[in-house]
Amino acid sequence: MITQKLKTFWSQAVTKGKIASEFKVNHETWQFGLKQSGKNITYFAKNLTKGKDISAKILERKIAGTNFYIQFNEFRALRPVTPSKHLGAHPCVSEKARDCRFSCQDKKDSLSISQREILQTLKLKNYSWNFYSNAFPYDATGHFLIIPSNKNKVTHLIQKFDKKLLVDVLDLFKKTEGLIIIFQSLHAGASVNHFHLQAFFHNRKYALESGKIYDNVLDNYPVPAFVYDLAKEKNHIPKAITILQEENIPFDVICLNKRVYIFPRNPLHEVVSEFPTGPMGAMEIMGKFVTTDKKVYQNFDIHKLYRSLNKTCFEI
Ligand SMILES: [Zn+2]
Repeated sequence: MITQKLKTFWSQAVTKGKIASEFKVNHETWQFGLKQSGKNITYFAKNLTKGKDISAKILERKIAGTNFYIQFNEFRALRPVTPSKHLGAHPCVSEKARDCRFSCQDKKDSLSISQREILQTLKLKNYSWNFYSNAFPYDATGHFLIIPSNKNKVTHLIQKFDKKLLVDVLDLFKKTEGLIIIFQSLHAGASVNHFHLQAFFHNRKYALESGKIYDNVLDNYPVPAFVYDLAKEKNHIPKAITILQEENIPFDVICLNKRVYIFPRNPLHEVVSEFPTGPMGAMEIMGKFVTTDKKVYQNFDIHKLYRSLNKTCFEI
C-alpha cells in the first residue's frame, strides 16, 4: 500500500522538479537532480549561474563471474559533500545536534531536513516516520530517507537503536513490502549521525537474493550475515542488534523480501584499497557498488569484489 503511494509521489515529485538540490561551487550555483525524460527518469545537472547544462555520465555493468553490479555515477561526484576516502577506520561523526549533517535544527540551510517535503508519513507506536527523497539519489527510480518525528517535529536522535526505535523499525519493516529498507550504523556506511533508514523499490534482483540460508546464517555468498524471517523470527532481531551495539560492532541491516539480514562490520576497514572512493555501505554488500571514479569502475573485478567484502565484513 505505502509502496504504491510512494511510487506515485516519487514520480510526481520528479515531474514537478522537486527531486533537485542547489548548492554552491566556487561562488556559482549548481543544481543536481532528476527529471522525467519520456518514460524514464534521468539525472541532470546544471550550472544555474551560467545557465549551462553540466554533462555527466552513468554507466553500469555486471561484475563478471558474479551477480553483483557496479555503477559509475559521475553525477554523485558533483555533490558538495564528498565522502572521506582515507583507508581504514574513520573518526566518529559528532553526535551533537548542531553538527547534524541533516541540519535538522537549522531551518536556514537549504538542504535541511526540516525544509524538505515529506512524501509520506507512517504512524507507528512511538514515532511518525517521514519519508523524504534523498537529496542525492543513488537510484533514479526512488531513493528515500526515512526519519522519525514526534508531534510533527524532527528531533535530533543519534544513529543508534534504542528500544522505542527498535519496536517501530520492526513494525516498519512489516508494513513496507516491496521496498528494500536499509539501516547503516556509524562505521558501517552511515555518514550522518541522526537516526535514519534508507529505502529503495525492490524492482531488480540483487546478488543478496542468490545467497542460501542455513541456521540463520547467510551462505553461498561472499560474506556471511545473520538472517531472520520477519514473520517467524522477529524476536531475534532486537537481540542481535542489541548485542552488536553493546559490543561496539558496527553493522548494516537490510530488510528484503520479508527477511532481515544483519552484517557485522569490521571498523578497521571502512574504506578499502580495492574500492577506495568512499566507505563500503549496505548497497555494496547487497549487490550494487557505486563509484564516482571511472578507473575504479573500469578495473573492479571479482577478485577486488571478494577482497573488499571480506575485509569489511566479519566472519560469524
Ligand atoms: Zn539531526
